[in-house]
Amino acid sequence: MSEATINRPKSAMKFVIIGAGMAGILAGIRLKEAGYSDFVIVEKGDSVGGTWRDNHYPGLHCDVPSHHYCFSFEPWAEWSEIFSSGPEIWKYLDLVAHKYGIMPYIRFNCAAESADWDGARWQVKLATGDTVAADVVVTATGGLRIANYPEIKGLETFAGECFHTTQWNHDIDLSDKRVGVIGTGSTAVQITCALAGKVAKYELFQRTAQWVLLLPNASYSAEEKEEFRRNPDKMRQLYDEFETATYVQTGGAIMGTDPEARAALIKNVQDNLGSVRDPVLRAKLTPDHEVGCKRLVMSPTFYQAVQDPTVEVVTDRIDHIEPKGIVTADGQLHELDVLALATGFDPGAYMRPMKITGQDGHTLDELWAVRPIAYKAMGLPYMPNFFMVEGPFTPFGNLSLIRVAEWQVDYIMKCIEMIREQGVAMAPKLDATLKLVAQYREDAKSTIWATGGCTSWYQDEEGVPIIYPYLAEQFRDEVKAPIILEDFEIGPLTTA
Ligand code: NAP
Repeated sequence: MSEATINRPKSAMKFVIIGAGMAGILAGIRLKEAGYSDFVIVEKGDSVGGTWRDNHYPGLHCDVPSHHYCFSFEPWAEWSEIFSSGPEIWKYLDLVAHKYGIMPYIRFNCAAESADWDGARWQVKLATGDTVAADVVVTATGGLRIANYPEIKGLETFAGECFHTTQWNHDIDLSDKRVGVIGTGSTAVQITCALAGKVAKYELFQRTAQWVLLLPNASYSAEEKEEFRRNPDKMRQLYDEFETATYVQTGGAIMGTDPEARAALIKNVQDNLGSVRDPVLRAKLTPDHEVGCKRLVMSPTFYQAVQDPTVEVVTDRIDHIEPKGIVTADGQLHELDVLALATGFDPGAYMRPMKITGQDGHTLDELWAVRPIAYKAMGLPYMPNFFMVEGPFTPFGNLSLIRVAEWQVDYIMKCIEMIREQGVAMAPKLDATLKLVAQYREDAKSTIWATGGCTSWYQDEEGVPIIYPYLAEQFRDEVKAPIILEDFEIGPLTTA
C-alpha cells in the first residue's frame, strides 16, 4: 500500500456523482459536510430535481406526505398541501441545492457515458468529450427514469398528438379535445383526476384495475405555515409521525406483518371502490388481485373523477391504433385528438445506458447479463469504490425514497472514510453479493408482490420482486450497522 494513498487529506480525494436529483444533491451535501470539496455532480439535464423535473404531467403530486417527503435535516414550512404537487417538490429540491451550496458543483447538460477503473481511480467519460478522474463514483440516477413505450400495433400511425407522460405537451389546449390515456398506475390516476370534466371527452384505457387508497389531501393554512416557521419542532414531529405512518403502518399493512393495519387498509380501498354508484362501472374498476400486490395507488378523488359524465373507462383490450384513434378488441374505434401513454418505466435501467468497466475488465453488462444485482442495493462486485444510491433491491413502494437515500448515503460515507484512511479499493465480493441477492429473491417469492395474483414493475422476468423483500426498517438497521468487512474485497490501489 503506497504511503501516498493512506490517510489522504480530504482535499486530495476526488468524486464524481452522477445525477443532480434528490439523491445527487444529498450526496453532495454529505460530502461537503464531511469536509470534501473536490467533487462534481454531472447532470444530463439543465436543472436539478431529477424525476420532479422530468415529470410535469397535469395533476402530478407525490402520494407521500410532504413533511416526510423531504430531507430529514431540512424541513420546509412552505409546503402548500399535505401531499404536494410535483412543481413544489422540484422547487424545494432547487432551494435545498442552493441553500447548501451545491449548485457550483453541478455540471449541467453533461451526461456520463462511461466509467473505467484504472486500478486506482475511475475515469468518467462525459458526453461533452471530457474525462473526469475520480477516487470514488456515486451514481444517483433514480429508479424510474427511462420511459416504457407500449408495443401496440399502429401506435406510430396515430394522427393526433401522442406522448409518454414524461413528455407531456403543455402547449395543447385540451379543453376541446378528446383525450385518451393508456394505463391505470399512479401516473394515469393523477392525470385522470386533473383532467376529468375539463376536456371534451376523456377515455381511460385500463388493462388492469387497481386498488385505490382514499387519502384526503388538504392545504396548509397561512396560520399553520406560520406556526411551522416559528416552531420547526412541529415539522420534525410531523416528520416522525409520517415516518411511522408510512414505514411502519402502511408497510406492515401491505406486507401483512401488521394484521390490524392490513384490515384497515383493505376496508379503506373496498369502501372507496364502493363509492362508485354505477355497478357496471364499479365492476370494471374492481381489481382481481390482492391489495398491495401492485404499488398501491393513493388518491383523494379518483372514483369521483371516473364518474364524471365526460369520462369513460375502457376495459376492452386494445387491438391496434389507427390515425383516428384506438381500436379495441370489440372492433370499436375510440376517436381521439390526444393520446397520452401512462405506461410506466423500465425499472431495470438504473444508471444504464452508461457503460461501466471495473477491475480486470469486468463490465456492468456482464454482471447484469441475467438481471441487475447489487450488494445491499449499493455496491457492485469488481467495481471498486463505486456506489449506487437506489440500486437493485432498494426498499421501494409507498414510502419516502428520500429517507431511504439518506440511509444509503450514510453507508456510502462510511465506506468513503475507509477508502481515504486506508488508501484502499473496496468492492463487495461476488459470492457475498450473489448470496445476498439469492436470499432476497427467495424471500421475495413469498411477499404479496409475488403471491398477490398480479403482474407489476416490481417483478423481474420470472415474476420475482426486484425490491427489498422486508420492511424498510430492516434495511435501515442493516445499513446503519458496521460494514461487514468480510463481504468485501479490500486491496491496495494499484497505480496511484
Ligand atoms: P406503472 O405503475 O408501471 O403503470 C403503467 C400502466 O400502464 C399500468 O396500468 C399498465 O397496465 C399499463 N400498460 C403498460 N403497458 C401497456 C400496454 N401495452 N397496454 C395497455 N396498458 C399498458 O407506471 P406509472 O403509473 O407511471 O407509475 C410508475 C411508478 O412511478 C409508480 O409505481 C410509483 O412508484 C411512481 N409514481 C409515484 C407517484 C407518487 O405520487 N409518488 C406518482 C406517479 C408515479 P398493467 O397494470 O396491466 O400492467
